[in-house]
Amino acid sequence: MKTLNKSIALTLLALSSFIAIPQTQAAEANSITQQKQVAGFYQHQLGNVQITALLDGTNYLSPALFKGISAAEVTQILKKYYANQAKDVQTSVNAFLVNTGSSLVLVDSGSSSCNGPNFGSVVKNLNAAGYKTEQVDTILLTHLHPDHVCGISAKGVASFPNATVYVADNEANYWLNSKQVSKLPPDKQARFKQTVEKIQQAVQPYQTTKRFKTFKLGDKIKGFDVISTAGHTPGHFSFAFKSGNEEIVFVGDIVHSHSIQFDQPETAIDFDVDPKKAVQTRLAQFARLAKQGQTVAAPHLPFPGIGHIYSKDGKSYQWIPVHFKD
Ligand SMILES: [Zn+2]
Repeated sequence: MKTLNKSIALTLLALSSFIAIPQTQAAEANSITQQKQVAGFYQHQLGNVQITALLDGTNYLSPALFKGISAAEVTQILKKYYANQAKDVQTSVNAFLVNTGSSLVLVDSGSSSCNGPNFGSVVKNLNAAGYKTEQVDTILLTHLHPDHVCGISAKGVASFPNATVYVADNEANYWLNSKQVSKLPPDKQARFKQTVEKIQQAVQPYQTTKRFKTFKLGDKIKGFDVISTAGHTPGHFSFAFKSGNEEIVFVGDIVHSHSIQFDQPETAIDFDVDPKKAVQTRLAQFARLAKQGQTVAAPHLPFPGIGHIYSKDGKSYQWIPVHFKD
C-alpha cells in the first residue's frame, strides 16, 4: 500500500510537472515582446553628396517569374545565397533621395498603395530620415511601372507638392498615349490598361500643375546624366551623378534579383516588356559597371540597394553591398 501510494504520488508529481513546465515556458516566451525592424532609411555619403536609400517595402517573387532558367538551377542558386526557399525570391522596393546641397532629388518613388499592403513606406521613411516632402524639388523616374511612379501621389494628391517629375519622352509616350493599347496582342491589353490607370492617377496632379516633364537622351537634369537602358520598358533610363571623382549610377530595373540575375545575368523576368533587349541591357551595363567600378543604387536589390558589381570572369557577377557606416 505504501509502495502504491508512493507510485501514485510520483505519477501525480510527474503529471503536475508535465503540465507546469510548458505553462512556465509559454509565459517566459510571451513576457518579452519582439520589436519591429529599424526604420527603412540608410544614409550613404558620395563625395559631398548625401544619398538616402528609402525602403518602400519587401516582397517575395515566385521563381516561376524568372525566364530561361530551370527550377533546379533556381533552387541551387537560392540555396547558395541562403534564401528561404519556402518564401520565394526576396525583392525590395527602394527609392533614393539625393541631397546635392542645393537640390533634393528623389529617384523613383515606390508603390504608394498600388501594389498592396507590403509597400508604400517611402514618405514615412523620408520623414524618419529627417527630410520633408516639401523639400523635394525634382523627381527622376527610371520608368513608369507602378512600383516606381505610384509613390509620387496618394489618392490623387501630389505627395511632393514642390517637385517637378521627369520621365523619358519615349516612356511617357508608351504608357500615356491612348493609341498604344491597340498595338498590343489582345491577351495583354487588359493588364496594360490596369497598369496605365495606376500611372495616370499618379501623374495627374503633376500634369495639372505643369510639373510633369519629359527628357530625351543627351539631356542633363539637375546635374544628372541620363543613360538609355531600354528593354525592361521601352523608355527605361538610368541616371548617373558625379561628386568629385566618384560616380553613382541609379540603374532602375536592369536587375530584379541579387542572387539569380547576378549568377545568371541572361535570366529575364516576366515584367520585362522586351525580355531579349532587357537581357542585352543588363549584360552591357553589368560589364561596364564591373569594369569602371561606379557605385550602383538599385530599386530591387536588398535594402539599401547600394553597392558595387563585381565579376571575376566577365560571365557571372556578384553584388557587393555597401558596409554599414555611421
Ligand atoms: Zn520595378
